Amino acid sequence: MTFNDLPAHVWPKNAVRADDGVVSIAGVALTDLAHEYGTPVFVVDEDDFRSRCRDMAKAYGGPENVHYASKAFLTRTIARWVNEEGLSLDVASENELAVALRAGFPAKRITAHGNNKSQTFLRMCVTEGVGHVVLDNHGELALLEEISAENNLSQPVMIRVKPGVEAHTNEMIATAHEDQKFGFSLVDGAAWDAAERAVKAPHLDLVGLHCHVGSQIFDAEGFSLAAERVLGLYKRINDELGVRLPELDLGGGYGIAYTAEQAPLDVSAVARDLLAAVSDHAAEEGIEVPTVLVEPGRAIVGPSTVTVYEVGFTKTINVSDIAARRYVAVNGGMSDNIRPALYGAEYDARLVNRLAEGEPTATRVVGSHCESGDILINDEQYPDDLRTGDLLALANTGAYGYAMASNYNMFGRPAVVSVADGKVTPMLRRQTVDDLLALEVDGF
Ligand SMILES: *Cc1c(COP(=O)(O)O)cnc(C)c1O
Repeated sequence: MTFNDLPAHVWPKNAVRADDGVVSIAGVALTDLAHEYGTPVFVVDEDDFRSRCRDMAKAYGGPENVHYASKAFLTRTIARWVNEEGLSLDVASENELAVALRAGFPAKRITAHGNNKSQTFLRMCVTEGVGHVVLDNHGELALLEEISAENNLSQPVMIRVKPGVEAHTNEMIATAHEDQKFGFSLVDGAAWDAAERAVKAPHLDLVGLHCHVGSQIFDAEGFSLAAERVLGLYKRINDELGVRLPELDLGGGYGIAYTAEQAPLDVSAVARDLLAAVSDHAAEEGIEVPTVLVEPGRAIVGPSTVTVYEVGFTKTINVSDIAARRYVAVNGGMSDNIRPALYGAEYDARLVNRLAEGEPTATRVVGSHCESGDILINDEQYPDDLRTGDLLALANTGAYGYAMASNYNMFGRPAVVSVADGKVTPMLRRQTVDDLLALEVDGF
């Protein structure tokens, strides 16, 4: 592997490098996009996105069982693609729900998440006919029962439980252990109490339990362990309340290969193992096998997208008597991709406007913000000819990049364009200083 390769399991499906070194995606040169839309720019490979929707749909027995986690990245176009592929959609705020509905996404195929849903959000879910509301706590359960009663409806709900499984991942993004904010505990009886209350609530219809074991998971083990624990409660609900829960939602967290060294996720193998584990555990409990729902965000949108930056200034710093490090600054950073600064996330960066010819040298790619932690690539051997005006692209920036973007240093959020079959469709324009000033209401 050399710096001029584009590792196929890391870059979008339709990314290729031409003989002159220019990288295109779906037949569109990134140099042209940088010229037309400026940099940084997010470029989404539509076919890559859709094909991952299809792979997931096939692996989990039908598109409706796969819920795209819209928090990873959502626009109305994204919601339309997800709808056209027949997938369901997860939202975690009233605005995510509003965007999905304004894209014409059918409310029936939407699931609402969140540990502190607003009254407006819950009301919207009920009146718009959202397919599932995932209950996080007792206060929410009571409020949703009240709102459904006011509307004389029976709202389908799931209960989010903590299965006490820690998937192998970074502490900050592991969510299934006990001492964290999401869901009801399985061990102290809170999940059972919630299930009993939901079953007895006249305007709630309990259809299943939900758990989410973490992020960047590459095998079925964590999901299987979680399913085993959660299905114990299905058995008890079945025996003591006489209710068969038809669905089991195992959440998202499917991993992707951010760097060339990481292996890609084998979607169908993980699905096969996970579904087999659910069947086995259900058989052990002597209950019917529920339909398994999954909620991938990152694994669908992450790999579809690259961010193209322009290289600005570079400097070489002596980090010891014998070692130096080259700093390569690009014209974005933590405002368009907080993940490296937030939890040490790694990325694959490549030059996309020409072939690199220099010698490998210790390099750090940094952004343009006023934080020394504003780092995109911490420590890699990159050719020493990366220079001002070059275009450097990071792969796998589709998930939690734009979605977590900020206006730090009054940077406008970058433009986002999608490409397919040689055609470019602008999705989001770049924010300008006027966009930022438009929020000021004190009549300067
Ligand atoms: C974040 C989240 C997801 C999506 O996680 P990915 O790692 O993007 O797959 C799915 N479900 C729930 C409840 C989540 O909080």
